[in-house]
Amino acid sequence: MPEIPIHSPLLGANQAKAQLLRDRFQAQGIRVLNLISSPGAGKTTLLEKTITALAEKTKKVAVIEGDIATARDAERIAKTGAAAVQINTHGACHLDAGMIEKALGAFEEDVELLFIENVGNLVCPAEFDLGEEAKVAILSVTEGADKPAKYPLVFLQSRVVIISKIDLLPHLDLDYDAMIQDIRSINPSIEIFPLSAKTGEGMDAWLDWLRK
Ligand code: MG
Ligand code: ZN
Repeated sequence: MPEIPIHSPLLGANQAKAQLLRDRFQAQGIRVLNLISSPGAGKTTLLEKTITALAEKTKKVAVIEGDIATARDAERIAKTGAAAVQINTHGACHLDAGMIEKALGAFEEDVELLFIENVGNLVCPAEFDLGEEAKVAILSVTEGADKPAKYPLVFLQSRVVIISKIDLLPHLDLDYDAMIQDIRSINPSIEIFPLSAKTGEGMDAWLDWLRK
């Protein structure tokens, strides 16, 4: 049966715009990471701790926060001293390259590292290129071991996966090894960083990766 390519014109236009953004980021020397997870995996908390740790080595960090509603996450990030811009998608469940292009006007030119916190959703954010250097998936241990197998695209497309909230592992019946095995079978070259932003365990490996 022939498949109807519902997505392709929309994704094609996004891809073209994302490539222009990627060229622009490269020319300006800005490294861009696109953070993708379901709601509540701990993206904003991870960013708060990450930015605070990186600030000791004076990296210029900026964050674009994508949410359906509210400026709460950008307000949290602004308290770390990083430049933060909130995008409200008003219902849309992902960011696209056009939204990023508009948000860029708010930043000074000396940004070295730009985090894009995508809308909390494991599905379509994986399909929309934002001109990033790499996608970073965040999966909390409370979500269940079956999520990588059920939502493979984001794990296939990401260069890194952060397993968050590992301080909670003693309280959970999670088959951790099976979850990691599923991630590796989807994407054998993905880098895996288990960590707790709350206790700081595992943060160093992630920070080392960022500094490289
Ligand atoms: Mg958030
Ligand atoms: Zn969407």
